[in-house]
Amino acid sequence: MNEIKIFSPATVANVACGYDVLGFCLNTIGDEMIIRKVDKKGITITKIEGFNLPFETKLNVAGVSALAMYQALQPDCGFEIEIYKNIKPGSGIGSSAASAVGSVFGMNVLLGKPFNKTELAKFAMKGEALASTCEHADNIAPALFGGFTLVKGLKPLEILQIPSPDNLYATIIHPQIEIKTAESRAILPKEVKLQDAIEQWANVGSFIHSLHTNDYQLMKRSLHDCIVEPHRSKLIPYYNEVKQKTLDAGALGTNISGSGPSIFSLCEGIQTANLVKDAMEKIYSNTGIKFDIHISKINTEGIRIL
Ligand code: ADP
Repeated sequence: MNEIKIFSPATVANVACGYDVLGFCLNTIGDEMIIRKVDKKGITITKIEGFNLPFETKLNVAGVSALAMYQALQPDCGFEIEIYKNIKPGSGIGSSAASAVGSVFGMNVLLGKPFNKTELAKFAMKGEALASTCEHADNIAPALFGGFTLVKGLKPLEILQIPSPDNLYATIIHPQIEIKTAESRAILPKEVKLQDAIEQWANVGSFIHSLHTNDYQLMKRSLHDCIVEPHRSKLIPYYNEVKQKTLDAGALGTNISGSGPSIFSLCEGIQTANLVKDAMEKIYSNTGIKFDIHISKINTEGIRIL
């Protein structure tokens, strides 16, 4: 086999109380990529469709992660990468992570799987660092492993796979406004109050427990973020309204996806997910801000060969 086509999924990171550590994987939105083994050595990006992104290997996250793996293995061949992008860059649902993961996952399959998923995550993190100036795995982990993931630590990299109930759905709205990464970082406090930290780690623990025990009510009581959301939500117009109306429509919790501007709700069942979609739609259709909405079951498989 010299060529494979893959589906590289969108992901939600910074899941409520799990800032920087908790993420989950989506099913209905993702990029497609073709990875091809060729005689000519090196990594070449030969096609990008969907969005305007750099072809130069070192300026594209897919190229940077591919190079990291290529240099580690030094295979006697090269690779061509085609990227069919559906996930808008900068939307906060892991556009860069999908590309970073896609190239290394595909190359690994074509080379006979010399690396496990945690090792692939380390290469993909080199690509992510290009997009966000620091290495992090909160979108990469769910894209590779699927389901909910917890990044237990970066040094050494330890990724935990967390089970989730079958009937859990996410509704995600992407209001098409630009939030500068620098601004969404700068707005965060450097220190947190002990009382807030206690509330936050209690919620992380109970949220993980709710996923293990399929306890939707506990999930609802745990999906809170008293540390990051109060600051970052100010950057997203109509955020408080969306939060209130989606909770009224039955969402278990609503929070910022990644560093925004996307907002996600977790819902029990497709019916509630649809009601939540209607609530989101109603608010933003009156604002003049363009938006996309996605509904997805939790993707427990992660990145896959098509
Ligand atoms: P997201 O959270 O949606 O991944 P980021 O801000 O983390 O958004 O990443 C998007 C940034 O990464 C943009 O500046 C984009 O130009 C850059 N980038 C480089 N290569 C890619 C790629 N293959 N896919 C997506 N973004 C890329």
